Amino acid sequence: MKIAVIGAGASGVFFAANLNCGARIFEANASALKKLLLTGGGRCNFTNAKISPGRLSEYYPRGANNLRKCIFDFGPKEVVEAFEDMGVVSKEEADGRIFPASDKASDVAGALMRRARERGSIFVFNSSARSVGRVENEFEISFSNAGAERFDAVVFAVGGAWTAPLRDSLIKLGHSFEPPVPSLFALKADMRQFPDFKSGTSVPKAKISAKFGAKKLCAEGALLFAHFGLSGPAALKFSSLAARELAACNYNCAAHINFAPQLAAAEVEGRIAAARTVHAKRLLKNFCPIELPSGLWLSILKKSSVPDDMAYSSLDKISERKIVQNLTEFAFDITGRAFEGGEFVTCGGLCRREVDFSTMQSRIQPGLFFLGECLDIDAITGGFNLHAAWSTAKVCANHINKKLLEKFLKK
Ligand SMILES: Cc1cc2nc3c(=O)[nH]c(=O)nc-3n(C[C@H](O)[C@H](O)[C@H](O)COP(=O)(O)OP(=O)(O)OC[C@H]3O[C@@H](n4cnc5c(N)ncnc54)[C@H](O)[C@@H]3O)c2cc1C
Repeated sequence: MKIAVIGAGASGVFFAANLNCGARIFEANASALKKLLLTGGGRCNFTNAKISPGRLSEYYPRGANNLRKCIFDFGPKEVVEAFEDMGVVSKEEADGRIFPASDKASDVAGALMRRARERGSIFVFNSSARSVGRVENEFEISFSNAGAERFDAVVFAVGGAWTAPLRDSLIKLGHSFEPPVPSLFALKADMRQFPDFKSGTSVPKAKISAKFGAKKLCAEGALLFAHFGLSGPAALKFSSLAARELAACNYNCAAHINFAPQLAAAEVEGRIAAARTVHAKRLLKNFCPIELPSGLWLSILKKSSVPDDMAYSSLDKISERKIVQNLTEFAFDITGRAFEGGEFVTCGGLCRREVDFSTMQSRIQPGLFFLGECLDIDAITGGFNLHAAWSTAKVCANHINKKLLEKFLKK
């Protein structure tokens, strides 16, 4: 059986590492796994111990339901074991993020390449698939640089950046695509909206929210203020949850930050009221009623037009309300994406309903398979994106190993 894999990224190489019969892997770049080597800042956060099939919608804004079975069969424990079997020992960090113990993405890449080659796969570099078409019972792939070749099965592992001709050739074969938009990016904001917020200030827990018509989207986590706007897990998660909505408004919208997401506004108000009695003589600048970096508390007072050298006993109700408002619903405008083109993943891709996720085979063109980010699947940060690449690849390799091969060999 002749199998072609298009794309030697995470999903394509993991597929080959799990395929018993070997495949030809066509890669547009001069080497494999270029993106994988950059993941996790070069450390490769390759899965997350907290992934559980029942909570997937928390991590996968797109594709949670489809991935359930894949992740049930091939969860974080199985991923860790699979890499251990290839010689990569792992370690778990805060939030369940899992990295190679060596902190080297190159160890993960090296192990994958070794295993794929041991299993008989052959890499063809500088070879970009231009289009795919059906010729009788086979698929013909045309390459940008040299001719065409026919295969019994074609596995697409091209990541989020589908080239237009390749996508169009699949549309001709009956497939459809959700339009691509960026996901996982820092948010641009005019920092004059944050008086005196120092670039580099971070808050351990904050919630960003925005309304898009009747829909309110929010994301919680650590937040980092930078010279261009907002970054850190909360901003990245927000960009993922609101990827489509932000694209629709051209990355310009009103948003809010809650600096005390664990407390109700009434509770914040209660804490200030209590401070007025308990800390009557203390100056506002010397006591923040919630846990905040002191510089940020001074900025909140400034934004609320309340003098920071005022004693709590002199704080009037109107000023108190302004402070509560700015602590729990700090208004600001998002004005764009920071570092356009530097996004981590793509939202959109081949329509999920056109693929059977128990095999990763096309429901429209049996013999075509789709893995990883080329599908309309993406996740927040934390190792979930790579996990989707591994689990879809494993399901597909298992299917081809156990069922398709048997069937084709009997012919
Ligand atoms: C800087 C950065 C850091 C990241 N860090 C993490 C992290 O720590 N943890 C995590 O879970 N996720 C992380 N991600 C996301 C993760 O890397 C991707 O989700 C994952 O690589 C997707 O795997 P894939 O196989 O679907 O696609 P890719 O890894 O993108 O591979 C696709 C491959 O296909 C090739 N290709 C495309 N078109 C063609 C064609 N027509 N012909 C031939 N070859 C083609 C490409 O050149 C590429 O090599 C990060 C992403 C970036 C950009």
